[in-house]
Amino acid sequence: MLRKLIFIMTAVVTGGWLLIAPPQTQAAVSSTSKISTRYFFGRKYAQFSQVAAYFKLRYSVASSIFRMVTQKGATVATFKPDSRSATINGMPVILNFAPTYQSKTAFISENDLSYTLMPLLQRSSLIRHTPMHIMIDAGHGGSDPGAIGKISREKNITLAIANELKSELQKRGFQVTMTRSGDYTVSLEQRSAHANRVKAQVFVSIHADAASPSVNGIGTFSLTPPGAPSYNTNKVESGVCKGHFWSKNSLFLSYCVQKNLAGDIKSAPNRGLKRARFAVLRNTNCPAILVETGFISNRNEEKKLNTAAYRKEIAKAIADGIVEYRNSVRSR
Ligand SMILES: [Zn+2]
Repeated sequence: MLRKLIFIMTAVVTGGWLLIAPPQTQAAVSSTSKISTRYFFGRKYAQFSQVAAYFKLRYSVASSIFRMVTQKGATVATFKPDSRSATINGMPVILNFAPTYQSKTAFISENDLSYTLMPLLQRSSLIRHTPMHIMIDAGHGGSDPGAIGKISREKNITLAIANELKSELQKRGFQVTMTRSGDYTVSLEQRSAHANRVKAQVFVSIHADAASPSVNGIGTFSLTPPGAPSYNTNKVESGVCKGHFWSKNSLFLSYCVQKNLAGDIKSAPNRGLKRARFAVLRNTNCPAILVETGFISNRNEEKKLNTAAYRKEIAKAIADGIVEYRNSVRSR
């Protein structure tokens, strides 16, 4: 309590900005095993200053925000204690666990160090491969309409975007297989089994979302790693599934695709990167993502999703994201 009072007083004196440690450089920490860890809330946390040093970054820590910055001072990542919302390379990301501020020291969960920071800040942590065969999964279909809007059904929008994405990927030299190419029912199990059978090297599931009418924007999901809770819960699951082999690559793939979507489609809010244990992501033997291309429960977004021009923009951005992913991880 006293410590809290001192923080508040200092914050007032410094105009609300409490800089415990000014941006500073530490000798690079060469291995994550050399990063000091402590247990909080029953799980392992890594000391933030040493995590920054490991990535050869400078850092600043205040009671309300932790930052990693380049040697020249450009922001790389921002974290808030007790909040799972972070920004990494300008991208909103839901962390697996909230960072914590203990005894004037910032900590980040070891799970996020491995499964969030590594894939996004250190390319060498990714599995190298050169994906040329892409599986496109148009969500829902047949007896399953998906979300129902005022003028359309999700299953038709996902198929239209999937068809557009197919031609954009083929233009870029990829081989493409579709989990469905018409309006018929395909189970979730059949979708990943099909991808595994044809040995697809990247799996992209296309969906549109529904929520309250004011919610809109585009977001991309990858698989929740082992030992972590999905974005919308605090329940930790430790079971391992097929998709976990590609956990890090899948997060990086979601980043490449979402970055292109956010960069190209300025009219839609960037809803960033989230992780969930969707069946199609769990059971697929390759990097896998699920793109929520917009909310058909939002009047404007539903209208846009029903135009060929907007669907083409989305398809182009996803294809460019896959190219960016391939160029970053291609085996030498
Ligand atoms: Zn859906």
